[in-house]
Amino acid sequence: MDTAGITDTGGSIAAEGQAGIFALRAKTAEKLCDSLLAGPLRQCDINEVERQLGRYPRGMVAVGARCVCGRPLVTVTRPLLDGKIPFPTTFYLTFPAAAKAISRVEASGKMAEFTALLQGEGSFGCSGSTGRSDDHGKPDGSLRSGGTGSTGNPGSPDPGIVQSYREAHKLYLIFRHHLAQKLGDSEGHISGISAGGMPERVKCLHALAAQSLVMGRGVNPFGDIVLDLIAGEFDPSVCRCSGHSIES
Ligand SMILES: [Zn+2]
Repeated sequence: MDTAGITDTGGSIAAEGQAGIFALRAKTAEKLCDSLLAGPLRQCDINEVERQLGRYPRGMVAVGARCVCGRPLVTVTRPLLDGKIPFPTTFYLTFPAAAKAISRVEASGKMAEFTALLQGEGSFGCSGSTGRSDDHGKPDGSLRSGGTGSTGNPGSPDPGIVQSYREAHKLYLIFRHHLAQKLGDSEGHISGISAGGMPERVKCLHALAAQSLVMGRGVNPFGDIVLDLIAGEFDPSVCRCSGHSIES
């Protein structure tokens, strides 16, 4: 079911195996960056994104994900706009139908629900709780990484989700660091900052879904859930675009 992405495998594996898989994913994230930047940025893509946003996409260096018809869904934006403005949101969702559907998911209160999975709503009684999975996490949490759309038990943090969300944060930073090196951009003002509230909170579902669209399923658990929730309205593998040609 995975799209391109950087997902390797799933299932129950030893910590050493998980570290090895993460190292592999980190390398794959760098290769993904290389491949997205391999060709020149096409003027028709810039024009289409400008049409989607209603403004010129400053700092756009590549298209990170496309509809099956070729239309851009997510841009890759450089870490430093115009050589001076730090910009941490490397993966920027530009496709209007997706952005609109995700805004509705945000309005429905999902961000608080997701944050509760990271921090645990029932953690008030735990003295010195940090919301870390090893404080009071349930090993049998019902929502595993690469979730299915279920939101599980909201009373305690889900160790699988906490772990994969942290890794999604790290992979985001690894991609951007590689991008910054390729472009010669400084990350001085955004060091350690990814997007969407990662790794401790959930603050922007657009940013998380954008990561899922670029890096593929199985990287960002909440991005994956959001894409599942809006699949009736938006699906990168189902073109619902209409009207003008992208080449125009
Ligand atoms: Zn399309």
